[in-house]
Amino acid sequence: MHLNATGLSVLVLEGAEHAVPTVASLLGDGASVTVRAPSVCTALQDLAQRGHLRWTRDEVDEGSFDLVVRHLARPVARESAGATTGRVTLVGAGPGDPGLVTVAGRAAIETADVVVADRLAPWEALAWAPAHAEVVDVSKIPFGRSTSQDEINRILVDHATAGRHVVRLKGGDSYVFGRGFEEVQACAAAGIATTVIPGVTSSVAAPELAGVPVTHRGLVQGFTVISGHVPPGHPDSTIDYAALARSGTTLVVLMGVRTLPAITEALLDAGLDGGTPCALVADASLAGQRSLRTTLAKAASDAATAGIGAPAVAVIGHVAALEP
Ligand code: SAH
Repeated sequence: MHLNATGLSVLVLEGAEHAVPTVASLLGDGASVTVRAPSVCTALQDLAQRGHLRWTRDEVDEGSFDLVVRHLARPVARESAGATTGRVTLVGAGPGDPGLVTVAGRAAIETADVVVADRLAPWEALAWAPAHAEVVDVSKIPFGRSTSQDEINRILVDHATAGRHVVRLKGGDSYVFGRGFEEVQACAAAGIATTVIPGVTSSVAAPELAGVPVTHRGLVQGFTVISGHVPPGHPDSTIDYAALARSGTTLVVLMGVRTLPAITEALLDAGLDGGTPCALVADASLAGQRSLRTTLAKAASDAATAGIGAPAVAVIGHVAALEP
């Protein structure tokens, strides 16, 4: 049964992961949701932080809500029904707005027995999962709590081995700094069939949503996407910044908020003009999307002043100064 909760104020007395599909569905209807629970899973924390719902530990007056949701059933994991063959579908879920999940991605979620999701995947999309589906939250918050990749691989393989359809929901595209291929390899090693559904990558979508095309005829003939996770000069960095500075392509930096000062300095040292236009886009496609336009020389200080935080993309190149 689907209850249309449009415009209702709803109190949900459950904060664990199995409440996420219900909460997502209520939010999708346009309900105003309050979660009252001593603790909530990271998915609900995320939604609260982004202002989609209110989370409180305090007593609330249940009578002041249109609807109170309690005793949400925990999903019962489906066991293999003999002929059922478990499989894993990697779904690139785009930069955050559930509207940017592909039609094929949505169809996969609708047939999932288990959804294994990251922090950057749109939680609202979990409302599309069948009622029996189990949600596993393997959020990786930068430099904080994380579930190791081996553990994620094990979760995928174990559920698929038990005959379930496992949807691995990942932010952006699974193969762009998403460790998607590691998961495909782990499944292959365990004899599990995988399907990959490409996603809208933030490396193109975030600039685009801030009005910046990564290429533009007559201006630039290519774009280069790098990870800024390790700064230039770090023993693990394999990027030739001098070559990047000479490349003549738009440069798109992912995971580069913390390392932006070092990256811009390396490009300046390599001779890239300090006046080269630069755009920064945070939380692209989400309600809190923010962007600013600056120059290579001023990017790091302007980002700090504006309080640009992860997830954010930096775009360096003449396209960052284009206006419609
Ligand atoms: N596979 C993802 C990238 C994963 S790495 C993709 O294809 O988009 C995580 C980085 O992606 C973040 O540090 C940030 O640089 C970028 N990112 C992801 N979602 C974003 C968003 N909504 N807005 C801005 N940047 C985003």
